[in-house]
Amino acid sequence: MPTSSATKSNSAVPHFFSGKSQPLSSSLPVLKLNSPIDGAFLGELHPANAEGVDKVVAVAKKAFAGWSATPIKDRVQVLFKFKQLVEDDIARISEQASRENGKTPAEAEAGIRKGIEVVEYATALPNLIAGNILAVSSGVDCHTRRYPLGVVAGITPFNFPAMVPMWMFPIALACGNSFILKPSEQVPFTPLLLAELLTKAGLPDGVFNVVQGNRPTVEALLDHPGIAAVAFVGSTNVARQVHARGTATGKRVLALGGAKNHVVVVPDADPEITARNVVSSAMGCAGQRCMAASVMVAVGEVEPIVKAIVESAKTVRTGTDMGAIINPAALEKINGYIDRAEKRGAKILLDGRNVKVSGKEGGNYVGPTVIDDVKIGDECACDEIFGPVLTVLRVKTLSEAMEIVNATPYGNAASIYTSDGATAAQFEDQAQAGMIGVNIGVPVPREPFSFGGWKNSKFGHGDITGSDGMNFWTQAKKVTRKWSARHGGNWMS
Ligand code: NAD
Repeated sequence: MPTSSATKSNSAVPHFFSGKSQPLSSSLPVLKLNSPIDGAFLGELHPANAEGVDKVVAVAKKAFAGWSATPIKDRVQVLFKFKQLVEDDIARISEQASRENGKTPAEAEAGIRKGIEVVEYATALPNLIAGNILAVSSGVDCHTRRYPLGVVAGITPFNFPAMVPMWMFPIALACGNSFILKPSEQVPFTPLLLAELLTKAGLPDGVFNVVQGNRPTVEALLDHPGIAAVAFVGSTNVARQVHARGTATGKRVLALGGAKNHVVVVPDADPEITARNVVSSAMGCAGQRCMAASVMVAVGEVEPIVKAIVESAKTVRTGTDMGAIINPAALEKINGYIDRAEKRGAKILLDGRNVKVSGKEGGNYVGPTVIDDVKIGDECACDEIFGPVLTVLRVKTLSEAMEIVNATPYGNAASIYTSDGATAAQFEDQAQAGMIGVNIGVPVPREPFSFGGWKNSKFGHGDITGSDGMNFWTQAKKVTRKWSARHGGNWMS
């Protein structure tokens, strides 16, 4: 919530550049931060404006010269140390991420560990980035080399304060770029801990920087001529805008957007595994995951599984097993979807509205919710609600289910629960999504398999991690060489 720009406070959230946390002057309205868990005041954020962004780009540009000239084998030594430092400090980082995001510390830790996998991948880059060489003609060889792009930026969402930045900067840094992170203005503290640990690991000052801010800060980054590439993760509308604006100024842009993921359940699915997985996919992180299975497409007679899902969801304790919703506006949005579904005649099998968490009355909570008898095309079956709400659609055949899965404009993930290999193979082949699960509720590919969706869940080419990450953060040079004039034969020789 904006307050007067004149507000002065010792609780100002710092930016991070030149190797330390420090302020940046800005005339933009100040944002107040409260913990989603209990409403406790966390600090005030002064969003960086264009001048602030320009200052940090200059710092990053200066650092780029030395860092890009450092051999990659030396660059990744910093990441080996960083991995160890993050692991040693994981409880403190998880606690911080939980405090500002609202998820449970265990969920926060799981996200950080997934981020660490990308660090591990980045430490292997000296083995993966080596170019190839071929004698392309008599006495002539051609080889490739990969070069960093320069100063690059990452813009990240609130829902994974450490993991999503860690999808980006380890690979970008290993490839020799200087990096500017613009975290979500709702979770600005956790990235500062990562920045401090990078410095402690020996990263030269100015190679990794954090500018705090919101839309004007993002726009300043997108418009800045000194930034070569931008990776973005957030909602679809913003991803689309970021991709258009960034590419218009000649940048390389990969923008991952929102999702509405389906889980198809057929009668031969294992009831117990299915119920447990569907609940943890839909309700984990209070449904605030781009990989959450938020629509269950129930094929044929699967009533016992639906019942088991409701029973399992009832056991999830809000405020203990499941965390908070990021802010009051998001809470209101989620409750609005449930209210309207009920008014249109849907059955609320489990109702998380008006849940109270004792001792955390200032927090934003909605309990696990299951909505049944929803019409195909209803808003709660189509929109990204981003809360612990599972919508159940009923169909008779797998073909009908596939039509629903593929009609969504999103294409992040889709899963099936079945014990039949042929059914699974058909689903795997026909589902139009970038990440597919077979008896897996949250089909996040483990590294080195890359992360990325299809359709409106992604704007730009390639995925964000794995070898696509290496390609995104570098450009290739193809060198053709001839040392001997003796060879004749064709136009090259
Ligand atoms: P968001 O789009 O509101 O914000 C993402 C980032 O964009 C933030 O840094 C924010 O400051 C900035 N931003 C917000 N509005 C902007 C605007 N108009 N112009 C420029 N920048 C703007 O997303 P969020 O609410 O922080 O995160 C939740 C969304 O992110 C969900 O839609 C979720 O599905 C998506 N998400 C996607 C993935 C994926 O891999 N596809 C992963 C995580 C989250």
